[in-house]
Amino acid sequence: MQKEITIGSVKIGGKNPITVQSMTKTDTSDVSATVNQIKELEKAGCQIVRCAIKNEEDALAISKIMKQISIPLVADVHFNYKLAVIAVNEGANKIRINPGNIGGGEKIKAIVDVCKEAKIPIRVGVNSGSLEKDLLKKYGHPTAEALVESALRNVKILEKQNFKDIVISIKATSVPTTIKAYQLLSKKTKYPLHVGITESGIPKTGIIRSAVGIGSILADGIGDTIRVSLTGNPVEEVRVGFEILKSLELIQHGPTIISCPTCGRCSIDVEKIATVIEEKTRHIKSPIKIAIMGCEVNGPGEAADSDVGLAGGHGIGLIFRSGEVVRKVSEDEMVDALLDEIESFVGL
Ligand code: SF4
Repeated sequence: MQKEITIGSVKIGGKNPITVQSMTKTDTSDVSATVNQIKELEKAGCQIVRCAIKNEEDALAISKIMKQISIPLVADVHFNYKLAVIAVNEGANKIRINPGNIGGGEKIKAIVDVCKEAKIPIRVGVNSGSLEKDLLKKYGHPTAEALVESALRNVKILEKQNFKDIVISIKATSVPTTIKAYQLLSKKTKYPLHVGITESGIPKTGIIRSAVGIGSILADGIGDTIRVSLTGNPVEEVRVGFEILKSLELIQHGPTIISCPTCGRCSIDVEKIATVIEEKTRHIKSPIKIAIMGCEVNGPGEAADSDVGLAGGHGIGLIFRSGEVVRKVSEDEMVDALLDEIESFVGL
């Protein structure tokens, strides 16, 4: 079992459930834009948020942002150790650095000293794009072995200063390399692992790459917190993160909607209904499995393990609970009838 680490009000590692995090895409020094985006992420269920700290203005905005949000904030710092020190002094709940690009031992020591005093963890984030030159030379390119060696080397830098409040991530754009790297790393460390596929792309393809990569790693029992990286709205990253966890039955959170692929027997617009139901049930936090099936022949039976569902009939909709039909309604009433049944199931 991985070591337990505390990030503000959230614990990761140990026996804690896997958390979903995201990263703001605003200019961090624009406090109101950043707070607004974090509030949207909180609404979607995001449990930890990271902000890019690229200059002093960003670092000094942290305390103002943190007064207005309710989830832990991680300061993401590259190259400049002074920014990491300011971020910690401003109250950040965790620092993400790549020790390899922060500079010499004294600079790392300055970060470690303030993190020790503030009792906050450091994430050692190794990316294929910022691997140390000697490791690139040794391995030829950013292999899984090179990423693991880099991560462990950087962890050792912190451990030498008696700092063990560590989270590790090793991300590559290659999905197989990332999967292999986490498999190797998980055998060599007890620190919690932050899992993600970096630069996975626009949602259309990025969701697939993230689901395959993060999903494979989690299915191996590896990973304590995840971040889906998509080119686009970060709220989508959170939604996809939860869908990955729900698909692997690692958490129970909000609605899981299943809908049939439709076929020649279909008698309702399954795609449209499923889209409407997905949008109108986003606010629900309790777990509920909802099925939308195109026909009455196979619908309720195929969705027997769903809590609530709808199957199309000829001119009617069959509302069912746990595979048993409980109501028959006309086609124009079926979406509202299904929503009523969902709300009654979750006790709204
Ligand atoms: S539930 Fe009915 S419409 Fe949907 S795929 Fe199965 S048989 Fe076809």
